[in-house]
Amino acid sequence: MSDLNQSAPDMAAIEKFWKAEDKEMGERHRRMTADYSAAKVLMEERRSRRLSIVLTCMDERCALIEDALGLLPGEALVHSSGGGRMETEAFSAVFGSRIIGAQKKGAAVAVWLVTHECVGDENLGCAAFDNNIDAQVDYFITLKKNLSDQYHDAFIHVLALDSTTYAFRRVSVDERDPELARSAVGLKEFAAAEKAHAGYGVYIGDAYRAWVDGHNKYFRLSARNSEIAGNFAIALKVMGHHSKVDLSKMPIVLHVDYPKYANEDDSFAAKDNIDLGVASIMSNDQVKEMLADGRMRLMKTETDIASWQGKLVEG
Ligand SMILES: [Zn+2]
Repeated sequence: MSDLNQSAPDMAAIEKFWKAEDKEMGERHRRMTADYSAAKVLMEERRSRRLSIVLTCMDERCALIEDALGLLPGEALVHSSGGGRMETEAFSAVFGSRIIGAQKKGAAVAVWLVTHECVGDENLGCAAFDNNIDAQVDYFITLKKNLSDQYHDAFIHVLALDSTTYAFRRVSVDERDPELARSAVGLKEFAAAEKAHAGYGVYIGDAYRAWVDGHNKYFRLSARNSEIAGNFAIALKVMGHHSKVDLSKMPIVLHVDYPKYANEDDSFAAKDNIDLGVASIMSNDQVKEMLADGRMRLMKTETDIASWQGKLVEG
């Protein structure tokens, strides 16, 4: 893990920020859970017609990706990782049975493979791909081809979110999708204002929007991500070297959120994968030091995926 290139920490400011963040996190969780509950009937109705799957980068500027795609928070199945990477076999292991089940019931299936870029500033693109747009596009075009071979009837789209305009560039879309025009709407309200990184938190779990409602604050790592520790290291590097975040006045927040699924085996598998990643993160000397002196804060929660009801486990 790289050194964090920041000025000397103001521990009183860090403590004050954490107290406020801890309180606000609980408040926004209650608000997001209530919104989710209120939208549940509409969401179930939409899901019965169309299953939406989103692969997206952990980048905190992609936080509101569901909104950008015209989806309600919680409506889609989202896999979030460094660069939005997911191998074909892993995709099928996580989503295959859901796709087949949806299609059996007559629902359409849309898969959104979303990369991101920063037009006009090549250092503020996707850190997980070293800002190499050609490599990003190649990766997702290949993934789309592999997925199309297996899931002929699914609408599979490759988009790039431009974090200058917060509009999508259509890299490779499936014109058969009748909802394409309605879907990829972007986030025009952030255009111009939010070009740079500003994240200070990393969320690990499967109910991101049950805890995070703001843009450009928390990185997002899914519970089944096989590279949790490596992706966390990239997030730290971004915070230390390519971000306007001021870590001398706020702590890095590591929010570990164990998902509770209807199927217990899925919950155990997710917990095992998260614990493995977190143990690897914790074995790093710099992380140990930051946790010990308060520059990094760890909180653990558990969230029921069906209701978004969460509870504190440790923190
Ligand atoms: Zn990225």
